[in-house]
Amino acid sequence: MTGAREMSRVPKAQRDEVFRDHRAQLVLSKFLSGELDKLDPVYDPAYGYRYPAVEVIVGEPSATEEFLKNLYELGILKRETYDKLIYCPSCNSANVSIHYSCPYCKSYNIKKSALIEHIPCGYIDTEDKFRKENKLICPRCHSELNKPDINYRRAGIWCSCNECNKSFDIPVPSHFCRVCSKSFTFDDATYKDVYSYTLNKDIMKEAGVGFILVAPIREFLQSRGFNVESPSFQKGKSGASHMFDIAATRGDITRNVIVIDLATSAEEFVSEQSIIAMFAKVYDVTPDKACLIAIPKMAESGRKLADLYNINLIEAKDQNEAIRALEKCVVAVVQSKIQQSQPE
Ligand SMILES: [Zn+2]
Ligand SMILES: [Zn+2]
Ligand SMILES: [Zn+2]
Repeated sequence: MTGAREMSRVPKAQRDEVFRDHRAQLVLSKFLSGELDKLDPVYDPAYGYRYPAVEVIVGEPSATEEFLKNLYELGILKRETYDKLIYCPSCNSANVSIHYSCPYCKSYNIKKSALIEHIPCGYIDTEDKFRKENKLICPRCHSELNKPDINYRRAGIWCSCNECNKSFDIPVPSHFCRVCSKSFTFDDATYKDVYSYTLNKDIMKEAGVGFILVAPIREFLQSRGFNVESPSFQKGKSGASHMFDIAATRGDITRNVIVIDLATSAEEFVSEQSIIAMFAKVYDVTPDKACLIAIPKMAESGRKLADLYNINLIEAKDQNEAIRALEKCVVAVVQSKIQQSQPE
């Protein structure tokens, strides 16, 4: 399955839909900005593997997994196997250990020993039979084993069962669930691939500049001396934390922060709902300035609300227009701060 073949099977329209998906924009811009080069899973004993960098945008771990799988199936992300995970068939936990068990009575209470061969006389037995204080002495011919690979060698391992006392050389692996305490074999286990993801750079050319905005906006703000976070979680007066697509701070001119949200629509207008949602967050967080970038246009009712709520509305057809408008907005913040700080 090559990436190229996958790509051609999926119609472009389906990918375009994803490029307009807000969450996909945020995730992809992390790759495009270089913040993420490769998305590796992080091990969590209770859950298995998770992708925290994407969870903050998408939500709970299983939704995040589905989201990434979809981006892969659309050819937007590439993936490679990072690990394989065993899940308990009873409770679905990944907190599973391996037990090496006795093939006769299935007990995992077995003892593992090293086998030693005394080369001159050919006697083979477990290491403890040769141990005499700090020396290895052959129980058959009573000579000392002191030259590894010359007069003695390791000859594999030998197990004995502490329950049924039988001996064997190959134990049977089985699994033990640390959550529900059930034992199970590989036959019954759920066995899943865990992936690392990278961006399919070829396909991003197809996305068009208009849809992926966070990366260029971040670059623009950084070039103006701002510290930029995306997405950013800001704590409000209520104590609740709110996510903004971008937050920019600059010690000398911002009291706290400038917050920016993006809203895109495949229709002619972005609905006023995005203004209402932003106002609720802004009301709680009270940033220095709040900007909403609407692509391509804001509905008339949304424009009125933006005015009323004191949200700086930027309407733009594409990224260049958005950046030009944002530049004006940032310059206005800088100038007003300078005026305020000037003595009367
Ligand atoms: Zn279990
Ligand atoms: Zn046994
Ligand atoms: Zn011997």
